[in-house]
Amino acid sequence: MVKAIVGANWGDEGKGKITDMLGQEADIIVRYQGGSNAGHTIINEYGKFALHLLPSGVFYKHTTSVIGNGVALNIPYLFKEIKSIVDRGVPMPKILVSDRAQIMMPYHILFDQYEEERLGGKSFGSTKSGIAPFYSDKYAKIGFQVSELFDEELLREKVDRVCEMKNILLEHMYHKPLIDKDELFATLLEYRDMVAPYVADVSAFLHEAIKEGKNILLEGQLGALKDPDFGIYPMVTSSSTLAAYGAIGAGIPPYEIKDIVSVVKAYSSAVGAGEFVSEIFGEEADELRRRGGDGGEYGATTGRPRRMGWFDAVASRYGCKMQGATEVALTVLDVLGYLDEVPVCVGYEIDGVVTKDFPTTAKLAKAKPVYVNLPGWKCDIRGIKKYEDLPENCRAYIEFIEKELEVPVTMISNGPGRDEIIYRNK
Ligand code: GDP
Repeated sequence: MVKAIVGANWGDEGKGKITDMLGQEADIIVRYQGGSNAGHTIINEYGKFALHLLPSGVFYKHTTSVIGNGVALNIPYLFKEIKSIVDRGVPMPKILVSDRAQIMMPYHILFDQYEEERLGGKSFGSTKSGIAPFYSDKYAKIGFQVSELFDEELLREKVDRVCEMKNILLEHMYHKPLIDKDELFATLLEYRDMVAPYVADVSAFLHEAIKEGKNILLEGQLGALKDPDFGIYPMVTSSSTLAAYGAIGAGIPPYEIKDIVSVVKAYSSAVGAGEFVSEIFGEEADELRRRGGDGGEYGATTGRPRRMGWFDAVASRYGCKMQGATEVALTVLDVLGYLDEVPVCVGYEIDGVVTKDFPTTAKLAKAKPVYVNLPGWKCDIRGIKKYEDLPENCRAYIEFIEKELEVPVTMISNGPGRDEIIYRNK
């Protein structure tokens, strides 16, 4: 059975926690897109971890952690991350890296920084992890596949060819130091030796696992609103964040994805630039940021303060729809216990007309939020295990959201820990 765990918002919905939790029953956990540009925060018996590239299953002895072909593979980063968890007492995980994954090159990271510098105030707010240059090169067919590391002659020839082109940009457009071809080639040979023990035909492995009836989790990064096609283009990421892409980024048949758990945050947060209709500011935002997540809403990769807002039903319903959500995990609900009233954005007013449909970016820029205020529950709901034990106003908030989302809310997360979850029947 293949299950996808994906974000319905702008990312940081708490997918890491849900994956870690559902990972208890999974045999294989797969990362299928993105790279080390976003973080998952996981709290378990070993401590608190911020993972960026490894799937959230690395803490279990019984799971195989897979980096699929769709991922932007930063090889030294992968090694650093493996070491960082093993050094803290986690047993060495079983890891497979797709021979078709492409490699994050050192120059991708530099080009990402240089381009943000060049754009100045008009920058995308990139995490500067090289993601956009990486995927551009992949689709321009000048990326390096893991498999290519194992043919030195061809590799050498390709390094020379690609460097020629990159150096023209570095010299004339960015006025930055050029790439040394020999140095880059040597670096790639180091990468080859680092990754060699993990390289596999991941797609074949997963096809076999499906045949054997194994439980497979596809772990998405970021959220639907950061998808290059369906998100707030151009303030999006460079690989698809949708569950559908899981089939491609892992190399499995699309019809095998039977369950799509869409993770939805009980309020909104976003990092980087881009339209954000229900955004709040000032003291109101500071308070939510301070109380949010686990120890405040700050980026797991960059430490940047996240932009905050109230729950946006228009964006979240659209996010669930584009994900093809079969069920919703509603997270960080415990954070809202301090509010007398909880605002929910239920519509967008665009040029005097209220809509419930999520528009394209140009229209989105004009949208003003239409709120309803629901009564708060004014207590701490952490530690509650049963849905019936939640305060009435809290249940009313969940049920209101569920109706807006048009997808059953089957899990409610009321704390960052693995066991802080309330299950509800579909
Ligand atoms: P991801 O990228 O979707 O995995 O999300 P992040 O890990 O960046 O952000 C989620 C943050 O919220 C992390 O710090 C989690 O530990 C924390 N978190 C997850 N679920 C809950 C919850 O239900 N309540 C609280 N208070 N924190 C949570």
